[in-house]
Amino acid sequence: MEHLLEIKNVSLNYHTLKDETKAIEDISLNVDDKEFVSIVGPSGCGKTTLLSIIAGIIKPSSGSVTLNGKPTFETKNKIGYMFQRDHLFEWRTVLQNVKLGLEITHNKDPENKEYLESLLKKYGLYDFKDKYPNHLSGGMRQRVALIRTLVLRPELLLLDEPFGALDYQTRKMVIQDVSSIIDKEQKTSILVTHDLGEAASLSDRIIVLSKRPSVVKAEFKSNLRKIPLIEDRKRTDEYQEIVDKIWKELS
Ligand code: ADP
Ligand code: MG
Repeated sequence: MEHLLEIKNVSLNYHTLKDETKAIEDISLNVDDKEFVSIVGPSGCGKTTLLSIIAGIIKPSSGSVTLNGKPTFETKNKIGYMFQRDHLFEWRTVLQNVKLGLEITHNKDPENKEYLESLLKKYGLYDFKDKYPNHLSGGMRQRVALIRTLVLRPELLLLDEPFGALDYQTRKMVIQDVSSIIDKEQKTSILVTHDLGEAASLSDRIIVLSKRPSVVKAEFKSNLRKIPLIEDRKRTDEYQEIVDKIWKELS
């Protein structure tokens, strides 16, 4: 069976003038349509590198990554990216920020304008559309960043520690928010995080990477996603078991 995303024996060496860093040794991984996969691993093990390879920004030294059977490095693909910093432009309003992706891709389809407005309405941002980002809370800013990505109708969403810069209370709210939006929009997602609780509670599957050069060290499945509230997921025995298992692999 063909998977939406197929990562086959990917390795990557960074070359600088002086030396070579082997970031990724040999990673194979498949992700199915609508699946939510988390990737955890020690700092510097190559998680961001792997996402960049998946996105087609970096060409792997060997191996291949295909989305819908097409290599991501050679194909103009529909992959959305969300980072720790929201990268909103302060001099553009919420609406202008959300439109940015469509402008860059010269997409003037009226259907997209409608979709954009429906997303803003659905996720409580329509009343703020003419405000500038500095008038928004950290949580709302991340929501704007997510909607900006969703407007482009990505087939795959890559999230690189998107909650890392938020304080504890905001973080809890934003995680619930982002995860509900991903569920509702049924987006296939890959989340990189150093927070084991986040990985265990948000995803269908958790991939544990080894230290650099990274390989897949372990893989765990979770059934928690069917519980709507993340707080409730975290109260289950299954949650505790998964966190314990990941923690053991990492220590
Ligand atoms: P992670 O996201 O897991 O913290 P990264 O993918 O950012 O790790 O980096 C993996 C390794 O590759 C690190 O040792 C890092 O220093 C190195 N690295 C990352 N980007 C570059 C680059 N552009 N040139 C050389 N080395 C890099
Ligand atoms: Mg990183």
